[in-house]
Amino acid sequence: HGNYSTAAAIDQEPINPSVSINYTQLLIDGKFVPAVSGKTFPTLDPRTEDVIAHVAEGEAEDVNLAVAAARKAFDEGPWPRMTAYERSRIMLRFADLLEKHNDAIAELETWDNGKPYEQAAKIEIPMVVRLFRYYAGWADKIHGLTVPADGPHHVQTLHEPIGVAGQIIPWNFPLLMYAWKLGPALACGNTIILKTAEQTPLSAMFASKLLYEAGLPQGVLNVISGYGPTAGAALASHMDVDKLAFTGSTETGKIVLELAARSNLKPVTLELGGKSPFIVCEDADVDQAVELAHFALFFNQGQCCCAGSRTYVHESVYDEFVEKAKARALRRIVGDPFKNGIEQGPQIDTEQFEKILGYIRSGVESGATLETGGDRLGSKGYYVQPTVFSNVKDDMLIAKDEIFGPVQSILKFRDLDEVIKRANSTRYGLAAGVFTQNIDTANTLTRALRVGTVWINCFDVFDAAIPFGGYKMSGQGREKGIYGLNNYLQIKAVVTPIKKASWL
Ligand code: NAD
Repeated sequence: HGNYSTAAAIDQEPINPSVSINYTQLLIDGKFVPAVSGKTFPTLDPRTEDVIAHVAEGEAEDVNLAVAAARKAFDEGPWPRMTAYERSRIMLRFADLLEKHNDAIAELETWDNGKPYEQAAKIEIPMVVRLFRYYAGWADKIHGLTVPADGPHHVQTLHEPIGVAGQIIPWNFPLLMYAWKLGPALACGNTIILKTAEQTPLSAMFASKLLYEAGLPQGVLNVISGYGPTAGAALASHMDVDKLAFTGSTETGKIVLELAARSNLKPVTLELGGKSPFIVCEDADVDQAVELAHFALFFNQGQCCCAGSRTYVHESVYDEFVEKAKARALRRIVGDPFKNGIEQGPQIDTEQFEKILGYIRSGVESGATLETGGDRLGSKGYYVQPTVFSNVKDDMLIAKDEIFGPVQSILKFRDLDEVIKRANSTRYGLAAGVFTQNIDTANTLTRALRVGTVWINCFDVFDAAIPFGGYKMSGQGREKGIYGLNNYLQIKAVVTPIKKASWL
């Protein structure tokens, strides 16, 4: 791998993707259209910083048109009125089409985002397909209850679609986030305006074309590419949007929650940042722990909201762990994400790249030990060396802030009570990793950690049925699984008097 992860290798000519870019416009009312203003913005190749394509720049006026289309499709169109079985069949056809175009979509994802092509093609796009099949399966199993009454009343609940859903997604898993948002919303019979992240608009446009090909009625899905403070804010504050779902930074989560509150009080689900602990206990097989902790942090260039970014290691295995974690980071294969066998591509953009390098400087300045990495790789693109810090203290910025990059911070702990307290002493609460063979230790930690997901001896398992979401400032609500449906339903109670009944 030494041939890959060197500056010279990074600076070689990039591999040319073969997929062609056919869709760069806004998708409104079932048609691709330019922005009302005529404006476009470039989306860049993170390997080279070159322009891949110019994409329509949606703003408030475009959002208004998209909301009007979604409103009409909900109030008058067939989507909420057809049988749930028909809806599920359209979703299943969509999943088939996505599967058929798996490799082309994966190419778009790698090109626009920089993630390894093998990861996109073999893991992420298949997960997208799986998720749509999972929620297609729910569509005709969503129903209300018959509820006991005190008096002579027949009481039932109707589970209705919530209406027009606004959805704002980030750039780290562009099509997977699209699926997490669309799957439950479609299954429940809602109509949608989805705003893609400005860094990664391409795969959603391609996929949405396929969704219409699968038979989606006009106006049910509208896709707006554009920037947050313009297009995103217009969606969050729109009076005709009945529900908002957001994934991204905690900072922006606060903004959209406020916009929703100030406009029409639309309910909001938020999936935000994290600083997840990964706890390696004293009984751990160090080699396995190192490998899993490495994956927990470095997966997707470290750009995961749930990244195991505080590696807590028991003092009895600490020195050995640090040595091996450093060796593993040195072996990490960084390079053009279109090459086979690549583990790490470039970061998403110059802003994230600079932010990560800034945190690395801050780690050094605050006295953590830089074991390996610490710099950019190559002279173009946003490649960062896999970086490991040891002797990290809880109060250092690298142990407190979400770095969102390939920077592992290793901290030492002595006993369980102490590590529980330290793991929980953060404003975040998204996930945690626990590495132990001791069932009692696992049970103690699982119940004590204030987080939405605990992975024991595994990490980043994202099956469609497993709910995902955060405690504290990592978010509100849960996505995926049966829990994800609740975000997209209204519950109506219907009460009818019972007369002349022989029993109640
Ligand atoms: P962001 O939260 O600003 O962007 C996420 C989405 O929100 C994008 O679609 C963006 O256009 C939109 N947005 C931005 N400002 C908005 C506004 N005022 N109103 C409505 N929508 C708005 O995140 P970012 O700037 O891309 O990344 C910054 C940091 O966020 C990262 O360093 C990382 O720490 C974190 N992040 C977290 C996740 C996650 O999955 N939880 C994903 C991406 C980024």
